[in-house]
Amino acid sequence: MYYSGEYRQSPLSFSPAAARTVSWSQEASGIQAVVALDSLALGPALGGTRARKYASLDEAEADAQALAAAMSYKAALAGLPLGGGKAVIDADLKGLDVKERAAFFADFGQFVDSLKGAYITTEDSGTTTEDMACIRQGTRYVVGLPEKMGGSGSPSPYTALGVLQGMKACAKKVFGKESLAGRTVAVQGVGSVGRELVALLVQAGAHVVCADLIKARVQEAKKKFGVQVVAPEEIHSVEADVFAPCALGDALNAKTVEALACKIVCGAANNQLASQEAGEALHEQGILYAPDYLVNAGGLIAVSAEPVVSGKAFDRAAVLERVQAIGARTEELLRFAEESVLSPAWAARVLAEQRLGGVP
Ligand code: NAD
Repeated sequence: MYYSGEYRQSPLSFSPAAARTVSWSQEASGIQAVVALDSLALGPALGGTRARKYASLDEAEADAQALAAAMSYKAALAGLPLGGGKAVIDADLKGLDVKERAAFFADFGQFVDSLKGAYITTEDSGTTTEDMACIRQGTRYVVGLPEKMGGSGSPSPYTALGVLQGMKACAKKVFGKESLAGRTVAVQGVGSVGRELVALLVQAGAHVVCADLIKARVQEAKKKFGVQVVAPEEIHSVEADVFAPCALGDALNAKTVEALACKIVCGAANNQLASQEAGEALHEQGILYAPDYLVNAGGLIAVSAEPVVSGKAFDRAAVLERVQAIGARTEELLRFAEESVLSPAWAARVLAEQRLGGVP
């Protein structure tokens, strides 16, 4: 199940020796970026470009490295012939007008191109499908392109669908049935993925409580879906069946884990666990944690079906089928964790490392 061979061979050539962290700055604006290439054992490193202002370039680099490592695990567990990479732009880019933004991403594309296919970029928090189209002017090593360019469009709906399937698998394990009807789900962050997940949950009959730092976003969700809204600092402690972190990383630390009042944690955010200990603490508290890089792989599965990676035209139906399979993968992981007497967080790490050929 984990390592089905369909995607084994990548049409791209790359040099495994290229694994490293590289920095770049745009001459015109002085905006700095970092690309972290983690494992290239299974293929070229694919991962999004995140744009946000960091306290320092060192912090941006550390974030890029942690996110790239999670991408290696994500690709490994999804059975994709890809390594892990991530780009971080140390700016929120909101100050740029449309023309400046387009020029910035075209230049950034040239930088990505200089990595000769070792890194393939895509959308992430703070960047858009349109930005990917601008990057395409500088390089072919970009996915998550608009559908009119033969791309898969926004990865967020695929990510949300995969999270929903993972959540159903967890519900089956904890409550004996996968239906989310009547279940309360607390969603932290209703950005690109969170809002798609809310739509799917409401459709599935769940009672949704949500929070976001941006008021307009929760107001929109409330108006559209009639969801309940709470303050961002309260969302993790809402009494719920499921807590779904869909904001940024480190949602689960010693303090928040202790305050959780749910049975399951399953969400889209990357790097939810502030440390491996947080995963063990969840397990000890009897909370079922669905490893983030297992359940949030829907977007990666979609973008990796674009021609530059798969060598084939994008096939939406085939992708949806593969994303739906995240449910079965989650069930299998939970079985493996139980048989091995490991927490799901640890069990996922063991499986990913096995696939990467290392020792956890
Ligand atoms: P986004 O920036 O569109 O949305 C994140 C939302 O979280 C924003 O609305 C933000 O205001 C909110 N937020 C931030 N901190 C918060 C807090 N403390 N409390 C409540 N809300 C908070 O990003 P996105 O594309 O929706 O991605 C969400 C997460 O999922 C990220 O961690 C991302 O790396 C991960 N992810 C996304 C995809 C994808 O397909 N976009 C795929 C895999 C993983």
